[in-house]
Amino acid sequence: MLKEQLKAFSQQPTPFYAYDLSLLRQTLDTAKTEAGKYGYHVHYALKANANSPILAEILERGFGADCVSGNEVRRALEAGFAPEQIVFAGVGKSDAEINFALDANIFCFNSESVQELEVIQELAAAKGKFAQVALRINPNVDAYTHKHITTGLEENKFGINVWELEELLPQFAVWPNLKLIGLHFHIGSQITDLRAFENLCLRVNELQNWFEERELIFPHLNVGGGLGVDYRTPEENPIADFATYFGIFERLLDKRPGQVVHFELGRALVAPSGNLISKVLYMKHGQKTNFVILDAGMTELMRPALYQAYHKIENLTSDLPAKTYDVVGPICESTDCFSKAIELPETKRGDLVAIRTAGAYGEVMVSEYNLRDRVKAVYLS
Ligand code: PLP
Repeated sequence: MLKEQLKAFSQQPTPFYAYDLSLLRQTLDTAKTEAGKYGYHVHYALKANANSPILAEILERGFGADCVSGNEVRRALEAGFAPEQIVFAGVGKSDAEINFALDANIFCFNSESVQELEVIQELAAAKGKFAQVALRINPNVDAYTHKHITTGLEENKFGINVWELEELLPQFAVWPNLKLIGLHFHIGSQITDLRAFENLCLRVNELQNWFEERELIFPHLNVGGGLGVDYRTPEENPIADFATYFGIFERLLDKRPGQVVHFELGRALVAPSGNLISKVLYMKHGQKTNFVILDAGMTELMRPALYQAYHKIENLTSDLPAKTYDVVGPICESTDCFSKAIELPETKRGDLVAIRTAGAYGEVMVSEYNLRDRVKAVYLS
């Protein structure tokens, strides 16, 4: 299938990203339908992929935007997202970024520390503006995912700790330019054990009760993103299980009357539709290992080097009997390795290879290390 779709790009120099827009559309439509059953608001997490053609598809379906930097807010606005559809999280928002978002009148700052709230108050007051804020609370819930993409444990830097809340609440009386409209949670990414979301719901319920005892009921509840995708067998599960995912929240979350529930999905919306296409530069036969040396490396797709992420690799050229290979990139780092001891059809110099499920946290992390050229993208419709 991918092989067929790529025929139109036979002259495209490698490496390049190839995005399957038809799979992207199907994924977005499924997510929209499933979220729509319960009136949930989905904000797309731009950090996963901020390419304009992808944002255009997302915008067309009425999703909002979840940003973690001033430039992401800028990109979302340029792409056409309405300011009142934009939320802004991030543990280290600079004054310039906060000012930019205040000027843009975004919907909500997901605030990650007491000091950040003080700064938003100060900057909003200086402009005579009012900022809507949600408290990003660190719920201390395990996401059962890789430790480098867990964010909701106390040892992680994200969010306000529960034990800080009692002292924090009275402060809002002296912060006239802040309007506290909700709570925000995000426990991690690539979550495939959905019990983590069940635990999150139970924790959110406890916290909502705690606030209610203090006569605070919020109009908005943002439960973040994190739904995982199938990296191992993408052809079997090309679309994440949105029905089960949203169903868990519907079943377990104690929504207050009129409360709007928001989600911030990134990976599950865009990962499966992206592939990194690369050419085999060299074969190298070691004593223990046969190396396939690609023209793409960690500079084009950093996830394997950054957190030992697995991506399925396919040889699009060869259908010879399989052999065992280590597939590596050209960068001068030993961690520049995509996969060790995998089976591929016998591979030769010049073969075309697809590194699958690379649509999220792939191209956005591209680096110029070794003064590499910026990788290009093509869109398969
Ligand atoms: N929201 C916040 C605050 C995040 O940090 C992230 C990413 O880690 C996301 C949403 C999106 O997560 P995912 O791509 O796993 O859905």
